[in-house]
Amino acid sequence: MARAKPKVAFFDFACCEGCQLTVVDSLQTHLELLDAVDIVNWREASSRRDEDYEIAFVEGSITRPEDEERIEKIRAQAKVLVALGACAHTSCINALKGLHPLADVRRWVYGDRADWYDTYDVRPITAVVEVDAVVPGCPIDREEFVRVVKALLVGKKPPIPDYPVCVECKLKGNVCVYFLDPPRPCLGPITRAGCDAICPTYGDACEGCRGLIPNPNENAMKEVLAEAGLTVEEMMSRITMFNAGHASGSEEWEGED
Ligand code: SF4
Ligand code: SF4
Ligand code: SF4
Repeated sequence: MARAKPKVAFFDFACCEGCQLTVVDSLQTHLELLDAVDIVNWREASSRRDEDYEIAFVEGSITRPEDEERIEKIRAQAKVLVALGACAHTSCINALKGLHPLADVRRWVYGDRADWYDTYDVRPITAVVEVDAVVPGCPIDREEFVRVVKALLVGKKPPIPDYPVCVECKLKGNVCVYFLDPPRPCLGPITRAGCDAICPTYGDACEGCRGLIPNPNENAMKEVLAEAGLTVEEMMSRITMFNAGHASGSEEWEGED
């Protein structure tokens, strides 16, 4: 008798849903994944709404009290919960909200109707419930997503790198963008690898979208950026675009690795 396929669901919280779109993109060239699992709940791509699933991929950040109740329910149902993309993993650009007083942010966004919306400081789902795996990046890397799914299906912990983008960049034989004229400021030395250094490969600087490596040497990074002629303000704006949760010293983020 054929073994039942694992039941998989996708959910989203505050985000742009670009990581789910990348999953759709991945599945077009990896049809073997569609044969291996049964997708039972996925608002963005399917009309099925089954609540009986084993693996949940969750995209987005927690921004409202009601989000906590929902993510806890998903956690209680799923045997395996995966944080899909930077919004779920580190809060990504959503964490920029935390750099300003909440009352100001509410007023800027909702004007005189701020009281209508029950929003609070942003947290990644990794800070609210225990997750079994993460897929970093804004958006996720489609091939890494495939590797994560294949590892989960054979009961292994997905292989997410804890070394910097510079390692992949060197392996590809790229010319470092710091040696261009003029030099380009790049966050590759402190950013988690796994994207195959795609930005430097196309001549652009890494913006740090996959989050920082564990124990990043930020002082050395600041020295390198300063050598490239950047001011402290410019450096911090570069680091905080995708890593504001870390830059603002959020306790949830400090514990992440
Ligand atoms: S990580 Fe980036 S692409 Fe993915 S949902 Fe968040 S903002 Fe969109
Ligand atoms: S271009 Fe960026 S990622 Fe590549 S080696 Fe230089 S600093 Fe590192
Ligand atoms: S090179 Fe940097 S910014 Fe570009 S995808 Fe990789 S981690 Fe993200």
